[in-house]
Amino acid sequence: MAVRNLRIEGDEIIRKKSRVIDNIDDRILQLLDDMVDTMYENEGIGLAAVQVGVLKRAVVMDLGEGPIKMINPEIIEKSGEQVFTEGCLSVPEKTGSVKRPESVSIQYMNESGEQVKRTAEGLEAVCICHELDHLEGVLFIDKIIPEEIINE
Ligand code: ZN
Repeated sequence: MAVRNLRIEGDEIIRKKSRVIDNIDDRILQLLDDMVDTMYENEGIGLAAVQVGVLKRAVVMDLGEGPIKMINPEIIEKSGEQVFTEGCLSVPEKTGSVKRPESVSIQYMNESGEQVKRTAEGLEAVCICHELDHLEGVLFIDKIIPEEIINE
């Protein structure tokens, strides 16, 4: 088990774009394992590699059904919309309402290099969109809807 240091907003790496992983080697497998450990240690439901200072397109999440490790995840379809109050391990003690698709279909490579397709709804869709934004250097605080608009 290896918990890595979390990178926090203000650290310039958080705003950088992550690169495609073209070779799943031992370092990538170790990175994914460490990301899962780091996510659990900090009681998160999702984590992108950039949050532990690695600019590679790797994401882990666990919404209560065990860890899912995703390499080069991409959204291929989205529909509907939902507003959810988000937080982020890299933006401590801040939450805000963000509009996301209600449902997304994604494809990614698993640890064995197989292409996987997955459709997610509700909180899982929120989590996927939030983590994929990290790969572009985007944070949920960039997308917060002001309260007065929500309450209209
Ligand atoms: Zn986050």
